Amino acid sequence: MAVFFDTHAHLDYPDYEKDFPEVLARAQAAGIIKIISIATDLDSSHRALALAERHPMIYAAVGWHPGNAHAAPGDIRPALRELARHPKAVAIGECGLDYYRLPSAAGGGAADDAVYRQKQAEIFRQQLEVAAETGLNCIIHQRSSFDDLFAQIQPFAHKTRGVFHCFGESLERLQKVLALGWLVSYTGIVTFKNGQNIRDAVAATPLDRFMLETDCPYLAPVPYRGQRGEPAFVREIAATIAQVKMVSLDELSAATGRTAQEFFPKLA
Ligand SMILES: [Zn+2]
Repeated sequence: MAVFFDTHAHLDYPDYEKDFPEVLARAQAAGIIKIISIATDLDSSHRALALAERHPMIYAAVGWHPGNAHAAPGDIRPALRELARHPKAVAIGECGLDYYRLPSAAGGGAADDAVYRQKQAEIFRQQLEVAAETGLNCIIHQRSSFDDLFAQIQPFAHKTRGVFHCFGESLERLQKVLALGWLVSYTGIVTFKNGQNIRDAVAATPLDRFMLETDCPYLAPVPYRGQRGEPAFVREIAATIAQVKMVSLDELSAATGRTAQEFFPKLA
């Protein structure tokens, strides 16, 4: 059986409290051999590492999601450096910028938006710094913020690398990311009826420049769309992507496995 990694899962979420062993068993039965549990703040980083310590197939990314940036302490670098030293901390993130829900959309003013954006940029920069220092790569979260984010990563573009997770941007933006030597990853959206733009992006991405992810519990692929996602669903994502790339599941397994292993050197 062709085997795959889930390079972006939120296994520390309460969604999995009731049936965690079954979720892992289904992943293994589906040929998912490694899962990276992605943190959203420092507590979540600790939970992800605790899961990684208990389960050989689980690894962790440690970091702070931009959607929670307002709740971050002034300087997360000391704590993050400590977490990044863990042998199973394979990346920094998820980190980035998210302008999808600005304060002004919830009754705030332009000044509130500026403060919100500035705090996100600050927490993102700190994570880029720790990534560069520790030699870990980054899991990039980007929503409605591409130009600002792309500008902000320029000084770090050759000190660290990032994967633009859940990529859903234009082909032109795809080329900008790839030209930096950075990567993208694709979720279950690739299976959606209205996911043709994602399938077009997949078709335009070289076989050795992307990885697979569920972003579970979100974005369950067809035929599970709307349900709680889980790592086993990488199988459905892989099947669709293999079709789009016109390769066998074995070829897709080999290519995406090699890419992930190279991008996350601690994923031993
Ligand atoms: Zn995520």
